[in-house]
Amino acid sequence: MINVPEIFASLVFHDGVMKERLPKDVYEKLSQTRANGEKLDVEIADAVALAMRDWAVEKGATHFTHWFQPMTGTTAEKHDSFISPNGDHDVIMEFSGKELVSGEADASSFPSGGLRATFEARGYSAWDPTSYAFIKDNTLCIPTAFCSYTGESLDKKTPLLRSMEAIDKQAVRILRLFGDTETRHVESQVGAEQEYFLIDQEMYNARPDLIYCGRTLFGARPPKGQEMDDHYYGQIKPRVLAFMQELDEELWKLGILAKTEHNEVAPAQHEIAPIFTTVNIATDHNQLTMEMMKKIAAKHGLACLLHEKPFAGVNGSGKHDNWSIGTDRGGKLLKPGKTPSQNAQFLLFLTAVIKAVDENQDLLRISVSSAGNDHRLGGNEAPPAIVSIFLGDQLNEILENIMAGEKTEDRQKTAMDIGVNVLPTFPKDTTDRNRTSPFAYTGNKFEFRMPGSSFSLACPNMILNTIVASALSDFADELEKSENFTADLNKLIRRELIAHKRILFNGNNYSEEWKAEAERRGLCNYSNTVEALPHYTDEKNVKMFEKFRVLSATELHSRQEVLLESYAKTILIEALTMIDLVKKDIVPAVLHYENDILEECQRKRLYSEKASCKLEDMLLEKTSALTEVLCEKLSALEESVVQAKALTDTKESAVFYRESVFSAMTELRACVDELETTVARKYWPFPTYAEMLFSVK
Ligand code: ADP
Ligand code: MG
Repeated sequence: MINVPEIFASLVFHDGVMKERLPKDVYEKLSQTRANGEKLDVEIADAVALAMRDWAVEKGATHFTHWFQPMTGTTAEKHDSFISPNGDHDVIMEFSGKELVSGEADASSFPSGGLRATFEARGYSAWDPTSYAFIKDNTLCIPTAFCSYTGESLDKKTPLLRSMEAIDKQAVRILRLFGDTETRHVESQVGAEQEYFLIDQEMYNARPDLIYCGRTLFGARPPKGQEMDDHYYGQIKPRVLAFMQELDEELWKLGILAKTEHNEVAPAQHEIAPIFTTVNIATDHNQLTMEMMKKIAAKHGLACLLHEKPFAGVNGSGKHDNWSIGTDRGGKLLKPGKTPSQNAQFLLFLTAVIKAVDENQDLLRISVSSAGNDHRLGGNEAPPAIVSIFLGDQLNEILENIMAGEKTEDRQKTAMDIGVNVLPTFPKDTTDRNRTSPFAYTGNKFEFRMPGSSFSLACPNMILNTIVASALSDFADELEKSENFTADLNKLIRRELIAHKRILFNGNNYSEEWKAEAERRGLCNYSNTVEALPHYTDEKNVKMFEKFRVLSATELHSRQEVLLESYAKTILIEALTMIDLVKKDIVPAVLHYENDILEECQRKRLYSEKASCKLEDMLLEKTSALTEVLCEKLSALEESVVQAKALTDTKESAVFYRESVFSAMTELRACVDELETTVARKYWPFPTYAEMLFSVK
C-alpha cells in the first residue's frame, strides 16, 4: 500500500522544502525572485545550492544536471557528478550557486535554425526558478532555459516564459480598468490530456518502423478495429493497470498531479490527465510524464507509443491542451462571475480570445504542425485543419444578442445586458458536447484539441498566451483612454464580436459542409505542415512576437527553419526505413513464399502428372502481379529520395518531401499491405496490426 500524501512531491525541492531548509532571509529573497521574475544574486544562489545539494544527496542523488528543452521538442540533460577531490583518496560532494544558476553546454548538435555559427557552439542554460528542481535517476534536475552565446533562445521554455509575462502584463491592465487594484499577477493555466498506445515490447522490437519512426509504415487492416467502440472507457486490462499504477506513483513523487486514466477509442489506446497547473510547470510536467511513460512501460514488458498516428486506419493520439487564465488571488478570468461587473469583465476576456483566435488562425495551426500530426488533423478522428471556436448554444445566444444590440434574456428568463445583469454559469455538460471542435469553451477554460500526442506544450501555449496578450493590449489601449467606460466597453465588445464572429462554429467540424462553409467565411485551411509553416514569419506575426518580446524576428525565422527541417528529416527517415524494410525483409519473405508454392506444385506434379495446381497458380499470379507493382513503386520512392536529397533550400525541400517522397511512400505502402493480405502469415516478417493491437492482456 502506498501512502500517497507521503510520497507526493517527495522528489521535488518545492516551496515547503525551501522554507524548511533555507535561512529565513534567503527563503524570502528567493520567493521574491520567483514571484517577480527578478535576477537571483550570487550569495542567495550559493545558499540555495547548498541546501539543494544536502537535500538531493540525502535522497540518494550523486549527480546534477541542467534540464532543458531544446527545439527538438524533447528534453536534454548533461549530467555532472557532485564530486570534488579532497586529498588523494577522498571526495566531497559540492554544488555551487554558480552551477545552480547557469551552465554551459556544447550546443552545436542541437537544432538552431541557423542561429548558431559553428565557430560559436556554446549554449548557455539558466535556471527557471519558477519551476522546481527535482530528482530523477539519482540526478538533481534543475529546470533551465537554454540560449546561444549571443542571447537568442535555443529552446522551447524561454519564449513560453516570455509569453507568460506578456499575458500577465496585459491582463492586469484590463483588470485595473474594472477597478481591481489588488491582483498582482495573472497566469495561464493548463491541464493536458495525454493519449498514447501500449503494445507488447517484443512486438515493438520486431518492428523497425516503430523503432526508427515511431509509427508503422506498413500494416494491413485487422479484421477488427475500433468499430465496436468496445475499448473506449472499457475495463482496464491487468498489465495496463499495473503500468498505470506504477506510473501514477512515479509521477506523484515528482509532484505531478496525475489524476485521470482510462482506455481511449482505439484498441490499445489510453489516456492520462493531470490536474491543471501554471503553464510552464504543466509543460515541464508533461515532458516528464512522457518520459516516465516510456520508461515504466519498458519495465512492464510494454512499449509506449506517443506518435500521433502509430497505426493507419486506427484513431491517432492527441494531447488536449486545456487552457485558461487566472489571477494570483484565485480568480478565473474565463468563468462568468456573480456580479454584473464580473460578467462584463468575463465577456471582455472572452471577446479577446475570440479576436485572438480569429486573427491568428495561422499561428494556432502552425503551433500544431508536424509530419506526425498531419496524419491526424482532418482525418475524421481529430479536429480538421481549420481553426474555429465552439462556445455552446447558451453562450452563443448571448453573444448573438449582444451583436444584435438587444437587451437579452437567457434561458431562465433573466434579463441581461453587458455589465448590467447576471450571466448564467455554464454547466459543463452543456458546453462539453462538441467533441469535433478544435477549440472548445468548456465552462471556465478552452480545450485546444489540435496538438499532437508527442508535442511539447510549450509552443501551442506560447502562441495562445501571446495572441491573447495582443488582443488584450489592443483593448486596454482603447479603454484606458475612455471617458465613459461602461458605454465604450459595450461598444467595443459588440464591435469586436461582429468583426470576428466568423470564427464561431457550433456544428460538426468533421463534415464536408463545414469545409465549404469555412471557405465562404474566409477561414484559413492549411491542410498540412508545409502549407502552414511558411506563414510563421508573415509580417503580422513577426510584428506581434517582437512587440511582446516573445520572439525576435531572427528567433522566429530560426524556429521556422527548424520546423521545416524537422519535417523533411522525418519524411526522409521514414522513406529510408521503408526502402530498407522492403528490400531486406519484405521482398525475401515474398520470394520465400513464392518459392514454397512452386516447390509444392513440383511435388504435386511428381506425385501425379494430372494433379491440379489451381490454387497455387492463383496465388502465384496474385503475388507476382503485386511484386511487379512493388518493384515499380520501390524504384519510384528511391528515385524520389535521391531528388529530395539534392535540394538545398529548406522550404523547397520540405515541399518536395510532402509532394513527391510522401506520395511515393503512400503508393508503396498500399502495395505492401496488399501483399500482406496475400502472403501466408508464417512468411510475413513483422507482427501484424491485429497482433500488436490485441495482444496485451
Ligand atoms: P474532460 O475534458 O475529459 O471532460 P475535464 O474537463 O474534467 O475533462 O479536464 C480536462 C483537463 O482540464 C484536466 O487536466 C483538468 O485539470 C483541466 N482543467 C480543468 N479546469 C481547468 C482550468 N480552469 N484551466 C485549465 N485546465 C483546466
Ligand atoms: Mg477533454
